[in-house]
Amino acid sequence: MEQFFKIAYFAGMVVEVILRAPYARQRRKIEKTDQRVTAAEQAVLAEQAVLAGLSIGMFLLPLIYALTSWLRFVDYPWSAVAKARLGGLGLVFLPAAIWLFWRAHRDLGASWSPSLEIGAKQQLVTQGVYRAIRHPMYASQLLWGIAQVLLLHNWIAGPAGLVAFLPLYLVRVPREERMMLDHFGDEYRAYCARTSRILPRLHREGR
Ligand code: SAH
Repeated sequence: MEQFFKIAYFAGMVVEVILRAPYARQRRKIEKTDQRVTAAEQAVLAEQAVLAGLSIGMFLLPLIYALTSWLRFVDYPWSAVAKARLGGLGLVFLPAAIWLFWRAHRDLGASWSPSLEIGAKQQLVTQGVYRAIRHPMYASQLLWGIAQVLLLHNWIAGPAGLVAFLPLYLVRVPREERMMLDHFGDEYRAYCARTSRILPRLHREGR
């Protein structure tokens, strides 16, 4: 059972890499008018810290957990039944994360980029899942982090994804929104006024 949850975790990751591949390819062909990551060294560091955090938290530590016994000393202490229940719940969150990840890529299309930048012809996307929240891709990362805690039964490898989500949310989101505001102005301000960051609003006022 434990083995199965580990395999499910990495299978989910392979699915996301495959889903992203066409967007990454498309990305390389686009001319940039605003590429803030090179604007200041501090920005580069912040950006790299976020990306490194995600790689370590969602990939490297899970891999060490799955392939070695180094982290075994902090395995969850619970019974096999309890772990099976946790894992089962993880199998609900994992596809939810992948679904949102896929929808966000589909809706964002050519506007997707791994670091903060705006393409020459980039349009503001407010449709699809972006109608409900401004950061569905980061929201999918949060769902992934929850799935990870449930699937990887270890106090280091499990919560590592949620820990990595923090700099993404606290460092990257404000910088990204600043960039979007500088570039799209009132259009983005209006979009912000009717959406929230990662949790959909229950009441839609003034629509
Ligand atoms: N924060 C979004 C997008 C992540 S990809 C999400 O979580 O789904 C990061 C890039 O997306 C940024 O460089 C920015 O150029 C672009 N971007 C973010 N929001 C956008 C929007 N509403 N419309 C168009 N591009 C957007």
